[in-house]
Amino acid sequence: MGCYRVVQVVAIVSFMLLLPKTHAWGEDGHAIVCKIAQGRLNSAAAAAVKKLLPKSANNDLASKCSWADSLKVVFPWSSALHYADTPDNACNYKQTRDCVDLKTGIKGRCVVSAITNYTNQLLEYGSEPKSKYNLTQSLLFISHFMGDIHQPLHCGFASDKGGNDISVHWYKRKQNLHHIWDASIIETEVERFYDDIDDFVDAIQQNITKTWADEVEEWENCSNDDISCPAIYASESAADACKWAYKDASEGSVLEDEYFFSRFPIVNLRLAQGGVRLAATLNRIFETQSAMSMQFI
Ligand SMILES: [Zn+2]
Repeated sequence: MGCYRVVQVVAIVSFMLLLPKTHAWGEDGHAIVCKIAQGRLNSAAAAAVKKLLPKSANNDLASKCSWADSLKVVFPWSSALHYADTPDNACNYKQTRDCVDLKTGIKGRCVVSAITNYTNQLLEYGSEPKSKYNLTQSLLFISHFMGDIHQPLHCGFASDKGGNDISVHWYKRKQNLHHIWDASIIETEVERFYDDIDDFVDAIQQNITKTWADEVEEWENCSNDDISCPAIYASESAADACKWAYKDASEGSVLEDEYFFSRFPIVNLRLAQGGVRLAATLNRIFETQSAMSMQFI
């Protein structure tokens, strides 16, 4: 890549960071995950996030949570980092089998390795010499991918591109199955049960502190003192894809109340887990980082 091209790409990316909120597919789902997460940050993580966010975000992580989706055109290589699809009916995730760019066949490129990669980059926050990575981008990538990995069809079947190739009807509207899980179920919930997205986020937050209170610690924890554990989240999504997303939904299906009422609780749970785990991961990253810098005082 020539110098001019590097400058051009950096200019485009920097410009995109300044853009106001755009309406992309699944924007609401990502914003919900980031809102839940930002409310659960410890002081070290809250301060780091505030410092890393671009000024245009006004310290609102949710406003930049879909930034990674807008990059797919500028950086086609980043498309593979949004999913980890499996063979048909596998219903689980295996790193060596499933972490692959479906377009190029390059192994090790998927949402699981992306979360590990951006976790490692953020661990360099505050280090001396300064990290060579753009840590603002690392934060926005990890915040987005932690949402994606909890959407069951981001770990769906490779043969139908996680439901993108399955055409169904959502009530009267023609839609693909992936989009129904990215956006339609959430939109229908907000339309029917809530005043707006903030009202919906409040309801999920209440469930986190009441209904799911006993499970939250388990969601947060990684075994072996790992800072992030995305392979577990991908396996859960792959299981949910079989059990809930693909079940009773094939080419030409008409999905209505029966599907909606049995699936929206799963969507709500995955949004809650995504938010709780994004916060737990950022808390561990920046706690570890500040503990390390304390050693040198
Ligand atoms: Zn995405």
